[in-house]
Amino acid sequence: MAAEIQICNLFKKYPDGAEALKGVSLKINKGQFFTLLGPNGAGKSTLVKIMTTLINKDSGKFSIGGLNPEVNPVNIQKIIGVASQDNEIDPIEKVENLLIFQAGLFGLSKPEARKRANELINLFQLSTERNKKASTLSGGNKRRLHCALALVHQPQVLFLDEPTVGMDPVARANFWETITQMNKSEGITVFLTTQYLDEADKHATEMALIVAGEIRYSGTIIDFKKMVNPDGGLSLDDSYLQYIKALTIQASSKN
Ligand code: ADP
Ligand code: MG
Repeated sequence: MAAEIQICNLFKKYPDGAEALKGVSLKINKGQFFTLLGPNGAGKSTLVKIMTTLINKDSGKFSIGGLNPEVNPVNIQKIIGVASQDNEIDPIEKVENLLIFQAGLFGLSKPEARKRANELINLFQLSTERNKKASTLSGGNKRRLHCALALVHQPQVLFLDEPTVGMDPVARANFWETITQMNKSEGITVFLTTQYLDEADKHATEMALIVAGEIRYSGTIIDFKKMVNPDGGLSLDDSYLQYIKALTIQASSKN
Protein backbone atom coordinates (compact mmCIF):
# COMPACT_ATOMS: atom_id res chain seq x y z
CA MET A 1 0.00 0.00 0.00
CA ALA A 2 1.32 3.41 -0.90
CA ALA A 3 2.16 5.50 2.12
CA GLU A 4 -0.14 8.42 2.70
CA ILE A 5 2.72 10.41 4.20
CA GLN A 6 6.30 9.90 3.05
CA ILE A 7 9.07 11.88 4.68
CA CYS A 8 12.60 11.48 3.44
CA ASN A 9 15.70 12.91 5.09
CA LEU A 10 14.25 16.23 6.24
CA PHE A 11 16.57 18.83 7.72
CA LYS A 12 15.60 22.09 9.39
CA LYS A 13 17.82 24.64 11.09
CA TYR A 14 16.30 27.86 12.46
CA PRO A 15 18.08 31.16 11.73
CA ASP A 16 19.35 31.37 15.31
CA GLY A 17 21.15 28.07 14.83
CA ALA A 18 18.74 25.57 16.47
CA GLU A 19 18.98 22.31 14.51
CA ALA A 20 15.39 21.15 14.88
CA LEU A 21 15.42 18.25 12.37
CA LYS A 22 18.51 16.25 11.44
CA GLY A 23 17.53 13.88 8.66
CA VAL A 24 14.02 12.71 9.55
CA SER A 25 12.47 9.90 7.50
CA LEU A 26 9.06 8.34 8.16
CA LYS A 27 6.25 6.51 6.39
CA ILE A 28 2.66 6.69 7.55
CA ASN A 29 0.04 4.61 5.79
CA LYS A 30 -3.44 5.72 4.84
CA GLY A 31 -5.93 5.47 7.68
CA GLN A 32 -3.30 5.00 10.35
CA PHE A 33 -3.53 6.53 13.77
CA PHE A 34 0.06 7.61 14.21
CA THR A 35 1.69 9.39 17.12
CA LEU A 36 4.98 11.26 17.20
CA LEU A 37 6.45 11.28 20.69
CA GLY A 38 9.49 12.99 22.13
CA PRO A 39 10.71 15.42 24.78
CA ASN A 40 10.05 19.18 24.64
CA GLY A 41 12.17 20.74 21.94
CA ALA A 42 12.71 17.41 20.11
CA GLY A 43 11.36 18.75 16.79
CA LYS A 44 7.76 17.51 16.74
CA SER A 45 6.06 20.85 16.06
CA THR A 46 8.73 21.76 13.51
CA LEU A 47 7.95 18.58 11.58
CA VAL A 48 4.19 19.26 11.76
CA LYS A 49 4.69 22.85 10.59
CA ILE A 50 6.79 21.75 7.63
CA MET A 51 4.30 19.10 6.56
CA THR A 52 1.39 21.49 6.85
CA THR A 53 3.29 24.01 4.68
CA LEU A 54 3.48 26.63 7.45
CA ILE A 55 7.28 26.80 7.37
CA ASN A 56 9.95 25.71 4.89
CA LYS A 57 12.36 22.83 5.25
CA ASP A 58 16.06 23.23 4.42
CA SER A 59 16.46 19.95 2.57
CA GLY A 60 14.87 16.55 2.11
CA LYS A 61 11.49 15.63 0.64
CA PHE A 62 7.98 14.77 1.69
CA SER A 63 4.65 14.02 0.12
CA ILE A 64 1.10 13.69 1.42
CA GLY A 65 -1.43 11.62 -0.52
CA GLY A 66 1.19 11.42 -3.28
CA LEU A 67 1.22 15.22 -3.61
CA ASN A 68 4.46 17.12 -3.64
CA PRO A 69 4.33 20.47 -1.79
CA GLU A 70 7.01 21.90 -4.05
CA VAL A 71 4.75 21.40 -7.06
CA ASN A 72 1.58 22.73 -5.50
CA PRO A 73 1.20 23.45 -1.76
CA VAL A 74 -2.47 24.43 -2.20
CA ASN A 75 -3.40 20.89 -3.25
CA ILE A 76 -1.87 19.60 -0.02
CA GLN A 77 -3.67 22.24 2.05
CA LYS A 78 -6.97 20.98 0.61
CA ILE A 79 -6.48 17.43 1.88
CA ILE A 80 -5.04 18.18 5.31
CA GLY A 81 -6.36 19.76 8.48
CA VAL A 82 -4.16 21.05 11.25
CA ALA A 83 -4.89 21.94 14.85
CA SER A 84 -1.97 23.25 16.83
CA GLN A 85 -1.50 25.30 19.96
CA ASP A 86 -0.39 28.33 18.04
CA ASN A 87 -3.20 28.27 15.49
CA GLU A 88 -4.20 31.85 14.94
CA ILE A 89 -7.86 32.65 15.24
CA ASP A 90 -9.57 36.02 15.06
CA PRO A 91 -10.21 36.75 18.76
CA ILE A 92 -13.18 39.04 18.22
CA GLU A 93 -15.12 36.89 15.79
CA LYS A 94 -17.81 34.55 17.12
CA VAL A 95 -17.31 30.78 17.11
CA GLU A 96 -20.06 30.01 14.60
CA ASN A 97 -18.98 32.79 12.22
CA LEU A 98 -15.38 31.61 12.33
CA LEU A 99 -16.44 28.14 11.24
CA ILE A 100 -18.70 29.51 8.49
CA PHE A 101 -15.93 31.79 7.25
CA GLN A 102 -13.35 28.99 7.25
CA ALA A 103 -15.76 26.73 5.32
CA GLY A 104 -16.23 29.56 2.79
CA LEU A 105 -12.47 29.75 2.32
CA PHE A 106 -12.54 26.11 1.25
CA GLY A 107 -15.22 26.85 -1.31
CA LEU A 108 -18.42 25.78 0.45
CA SER A 109 -21.51 27.81 -0.45
CA LYS A 110 -23.15 29.86 2.32
CA PRO A 111 -25.86 27.24 3.12
CA GLU A 112 -23.31 24.39 3.01
CA ALA A 113 -20.95 26.37 5.23
CA ARG A 114 -23.71 26.98 7.78
CA LYS A 115 -24.61 23.29 7.77
CA ARG A 116 -21.00 22.22 8.23
CA ALA A 117 -20.47 24.77 11.03
CA ASN A 118 -23.52 23.40 12.78
CA GLU A 119 -22.34 19.79 12.44
CA LEU A 120 -18.93 20.66 13.91
CA ILE A 121 -20.43 22.71 16.75
CA ASN A 122 -22.47 19.64 17.70
CA LEU A 123 -19.59 17.22 17.17
CA PHE A 124 -17.22 19.20 19.41
CA GLN A 125 -19.93 20.18 21.90
CA LEU A 126 -19.51 23.88 21.38
CA SER A 127 -23.20 24.84 21.27
CA THR A 128 -23.09 27.01 24.40
CA GLU A 129 -20.05 28.81 22.93
CA ARG A 130 -21.64 29.29 19.49
CA ASN A 131 -22.15 33.05 19.88
CA LYS A 132 -19.11 33.78 22.04
CA LYS A 133 -16.02 35.56 20.81
CA ALA A 134 -13.07 33.22 20.35
CA SER A 135 -10.95 35.27 22.79
CA THR A 136 -13.42 34.61 25.61
CA LEU A 137 -13.30 30.78 25.34
CA SER A 138 -11.56 28.68 27.97
CA GLY A 139 -8.30 27.00 26.96
CA GLY A 140 -9.95 23.62 26.47
CA ASN A 141 -12.78 25.06 24.38
CA LYS A 142 -10.27 26.95 22.23
CA ARG A 143 -8.54 23.64 21.52
CA ARG A 144 -11.89 22.13 20.49
CA LEU A 145 -12.52 25.10 18.22
CA HIS A 146 -9.07 24.64 16.62
CA CYS A 147 -9.98 21.02 15.86
CA ALA A 148 -13.40 21.95 14.49
CA LEU A 149 -11.76 24.55 12.23
CA ALA A 150 -9.24 21.96 11.06
CA LEU A 151 -12.07 19.67 9.96
CA VAL A 152 -14.38 22.05 8.04
CA HIS A 153 -13.24 20.80 4.63
CA GLN A 154 -13.32 17.09 5.59
CA PRO A 155 -9.58 16.52 5.20
CA GLN A 156 -8.04 13.10 4.55
CA VAL A 157 -5.19 13.70 6.98
CA LEU A 158 -5.54 15.41 10.34
CA PHE A 159 -2.52 16.82 12.18
CA LEU A 160 -3.08 17.31 15.90
CA ASP A 161 -0.21 19.00 17.75
CA GLU A 162 -0.82 18.53 21.48
CA PRO A 163 -4.58 18.87 20.98
CA THR A 164 -5.87 18.12 24.47
CA VAL A 165 -3.77 20.53 26.55
CA GLY A 166 -6.14 22.34 28.93
CA MET A 167 -9.17 20.12 28.33
CA ASP A 168 -11.02 18.75 31.33
CA PRO A 169 -11.30 14.94 31.59
CA VAL A 170 -14.83 14.76 30.15
CA ALA A 171 -13.90 17.07 27.26
CA ARG A 172 -10.82 14.91 26.60
CA ALA A 173 -12.88 11.73 26.54
CA ASN A 174 -15.47 13.28 24.18
CA PHE A 175 -12.74 14.68 21.99
CA TRP A 176 -11.08 11.28 21.59
CA GLU A 177 -14.40 9.61 20.91
CA THR A 178 -14.93 12.03 18.01
CA ILE A 179 -11.42 11.65 16.60
CA THR A 180 -11.26 7.85 16.89
CA GLN A 181 -14.65 7.56 15.26
CA MET A 182 -13.44 9.66 12.32
CA ASN A 183 -10.35 7.52 12.08
CA LYS A 184 -12.34 4.27 12.11
CA SER A 185 -15.43 5.12 10.13
CA GLU A 186 -14.15 7.73 7.69
CA GLY A 187 -10.61 6.38 7.45
CA ILE A 188 -9.06 9.76 8.22
CA THR A 189 -5.32 9.47 8.84
CA VAL A 190 -4.34 10.95 12.20
CA PHE A 191 -0.91 12.39 12.98
CA LEU A 192 -0.82 13.19 16.68
CA THR A 193 1.78 14.71 18.96
CA THR A 194 1.07 14.55 22.67
CA GLN A 195 2.78 14.51 26.04
CA TYR A 196 -0.11 12.47 27.45
CA LEU A 197 1.20 9.02 26.70
CA ASP A 198 -1.94 7.34 28.01
CA GLU A 199 -3.82 8.97 25.11
CA ALA A 200 -1.26 7.79 22.58
CA ASP A 201 -1.32 4.29 24.08
CA LYS A 202 -5.09 4.08 23.98
CA HIS A 203 -5.76 5.47 20.51
CA ALA A 204 -2.69 5.15 18.30
CA THR A 205 -1.23 1.97 16.87
CA GLU A 206 1.92 3.27 15.16
CA MET A 207 4.46 5.62 16.67
CA ALA A 208 7.79 7.30 16.19
CA LEU A 209 10.07 8.67 18.85
CA ILE A 210 12.07 11.77 18.07
CA VAL A 211 14.92 12.99 20.26
CA ALA A 212 16.97 16.08 19.42
CA GLY A 213 15.80 16.13 15.80
CA GLU A 214 16.50 12.44 15.12
CA ILE A 215 14.08 9.53 14.89
CA ARG A 216 15.14 6.92 17.43
CA TYR A 217 12.28 4.47 16.89
CA SER A 218 9.48 4.02 14.40
CA GLY A 219 7.04 1.12 14.29
CA THR A 220 4.11 -0.17 16.28
CA ILE A 221 3.51 0.80 19.89
CA ILE A 222 3.35 -2.91 20.76
CA ASP A 223 6.83 -3.50 19.30
CA PHE A 224 8.22 -0.44 21.08
CA LYS A 225 7.02 -1.81 24.40
CA LYS A 226 8.53 -5.23 23.59
CA MET A 227 11.83 -3.62 22.58
CA VAL A 228 12.09 -1.76 25.89
CA ASN A 229 10.90 -4.63 28.02
CA PRO A 230 10.70 -8.05 26.33
CA ASP A 231 8.82 -9.45 29.32
CA GLY A 232 5.93 -7.12 28.46
CA GLY A 233 3.47 -5.58 30.83
CA LEU A 234 4.76 -2.00 30.74
CA SER A 235 2.52 0.90 29.77
CA LEU A 236 3.67 3.21 26.99
CA ASP A 237 4.38 5.84 29.65
CA ASP A 238 6.73 3.52 31.57
CA SER A 239 8.35 2.18 28.38
CA TYR A 240 8.99 5.72 27.18
CA LEU A 241 10.50 6.80 30.51
CA GLN A 242 12.73 3.75 30.60
CA TYR A 243 13.88 4.29 27.01
CA ILE A 244 14.62 8.02 27.47
CA LYS A 245 16.46 7.30 30.72
CA ALA A 246 18.66 4.73 28.97
CA LEU A 247 19.42 7.24 26.18
CA THR A 248 20.40 9.89 28.74
CA ILE A 249 22.72 7.44 30.53
CA GLN A 250 24.27 6.43 27.18
CA ALA A 251 24.80 10.07 26.21
CA SER A 252 26.39 11.01 29.54
CA SER A 253 28.72 8.00 29.51
CA LYS A 254 29.99 9.12 26.08
CA ASN A 255 30.88 12.60 27.39
P1 ADP B 1 8.72 20.13 20.11
O1 ADP B 1 7.47 20.46 19.39
O2 ADP B 1 9.14 18.70 19.97
O3 ADP B 1 8.67 20.54 21.54
P2 ADP B 1 9.91 22.16 18.39
O4 ADP B 1 9.79 21.63 17.01
O5 ADP B 1 8.98 23.23 18.81
O6 ADP B 1 9.91 20.96 19.44
O7 ADP B 1 11.39 22.73 18.58
C1 ADP B 1 12.55 22.04 18.11
C2 ADP B 1 13.78 22.92 18.32
O8 ADP B 1 13.68 24.06 17.45
C3 ADP B 1 13.93 23.48 19.72
O9 ADP B 1 15.31 23.57 20.01
C4 ADP B 1 13.30 24.83 19.62
O10 ADP B 1 13.85 25.71 20.57
C5 ADP B 1 13.67 25.25 18.20
N1 ADP B 1 12.66 26.14 17.60
C6 ADP B 1 11.34 25.87 17.42
N2 ADP B 1 10.72 26.90 16.83
C7 ADP B 1 11.67 27.85 16.62
C8 ADP B 1 11.66 29.15 16.04
N3 ADP B 1 10.55 29.67 15.53
N4 ADP B 1 12.84 29.83 16.00
C9 ADP B 1 13.95 29.30 16.51
N5 ADP B 1 14.05 28.08 17.06
C10 ADP B 1 12.91 27.35 17.13
MG1 MG C 1 5.63 21.20 20.05
